[in-house]
Amino acid sequence: MNDALDKPKSNCGIVAVFGQEDASISAYQALYALQHRGQESSGIVTSDGQNVYRHAGLGLVNNAFPNLRILKSLKGKIAVGHNRYSTTGSNMLTNAQPFLVNFREGPLAISHNGNFINTGGIRRGLVEDGAIFQTTSDTEVVLHLMARSKEPHIALKIREALGIIQGAYSLALVTSDKIYGVRDPRGWRPLCLGEKEGAYFIVSESCALDLIGAEYVREVQPGEILEVSDCGLKSYWLAERAERRACIFEHVYFSRPDSKIFDENVDRARRKLGKNLDEEHPAEADIVISVPDSSNTAALGYATRSGIRFEIGLIRNHYVGRTFIHPEQSARDFNVRVKFNAVEGVLKDRRVVVVDDSIVRGTTIKHLTRMIRGAGAREVHLRVSSPPITWPCYYGMDFPTKDELIASAQTVEEIRAYLGVDSLGYLSLEGMVNAVSEEGGFCTACFTGNYPLRPEKGATKLQYEKKIDTENYQPAG
Ligand code: SF4
Repeated sequence: MNDALDKPKSNCGIVAVFGQEDASISAYQALYALQHRGQESSGIVTSDGQNVYRHAGLGLVNNAFPNLRILKSLKGKIAVGHNRYSTTGSNMLTNAQPFLVNFREGPLAISHNGNFINTGGIRRGLVEDGAIFQTTSDTEVVLHLMARSKEPHIALKIREALGIIQGAYSLALVTSDKIYGVRDPRGWRPLCLGEKEGAYFIVSESCALDLIGAEYVREVQPGEILEVSDCGLKSYWLAERAERRACIFEHVYFSRPDSKIFDENVDRARRKLGKNLDEEHPAEADIVISVPDSSNTAALGYATRSGIRFEIGLIRNHYVGRTFIHPEQSARDFNVRVKFNAVEGVLKDRRVVVVDDSIVRGTTIKHLTRMIRGAGAREVHLRVSSPPITWPCYYGMDFPTKDELIASAQTVEEIRAYLGVDSLGYLSLEGMVNAVSEEGGFCTACFTGNYPLRPEKGATKLQYEKKIDTENYQPAG
């Protein structure tokens, strides 16, 4: 749970399973491994070829699936699952995914990770045309568009529907006898394929394959509609072609370090971020510590390159349940104190490099700096393994508004003074991109304002103009 931490949130975790006995249990295990991608609700739909079964609940995977009986009641060798994070008050159960509908060709269920950016107008057009929506989620728009498609095949219906919708999406869909994994043409969100003894698994991150015991096969490619059926694997392609723009923040912060995403190991990329950070911003210090857990790997990279000893100077309490966010800053500080504590024996009289992966508002790191100084640190040198965040995200990460981003209006020196650290160094854009891949192909919009697909005002009609609607834009999980 990271609700009190000053980090981007949102995103969702998705899984689809094909050809596995008790597919619900595999889906549950995958969702368990993907818990960090969404904690508001969790759900699974299965098919035994005759019937479909669905269960979803609010909270963590454990809360939604409190016993084996529920999982056993979800029969069949085909499953799709979803962990949801929602950004607004819409975390009610009706918005829990996977969504399940019956249409001409039979049952269809869908899970979505990402954010559509033009569905507001499309949805209005559909409603004017008589469509009845069951949820407030924009994911449902895909199902309505597929239901209207006259294409003869599910993959082609997906293709037609997603030819109308724009944005960031990795999707998992199931029918009674097939599963599909789909990524948008820019490949914003990760999605990969695994295999175990003839069964196939499509998951957001490869750490989910590890828990299932499946082998990583490959990424689902940007723009690919991957169909898995009794006939094997078949790829269809979305009509739109675009340059790859994978979310670099998945490597910086969001994905698990034991995952492979975008065909690269997160651990390797994150260590390189730390190494590049030391090259750009060396410090005279006695120890390097991380802001656990997401900065651990980058801090190790920094320590390795600098030759300064890595120490555990902050302890994170992993057993904190949901904490309610109070509007008062003091309450926020309390929320941080609940989650972190400083190790005095490590920090006392030391010159300390603190590595953090990102700074959003600056609230958490300001408090942690105070805590580290309170434990006796002589100097605090903050190093951030990403550039200053100056723009919000429209592609599935929940950032605060631009005004709330500390780096949007303040210089690095002003931020240093506000945080109360002796020195502050952010990794450069080049240092970040180079650490992740020499070939590029990443979205860096929250650092640069260069949006690959910019929400823009404009009329959107059911007639499928590719205009983008910002009036009703709401990031979704
Ligand atoms: Fe990722 Fe930032 Fe791009 Fe959003 S704007 S997709 S967080 S890199």
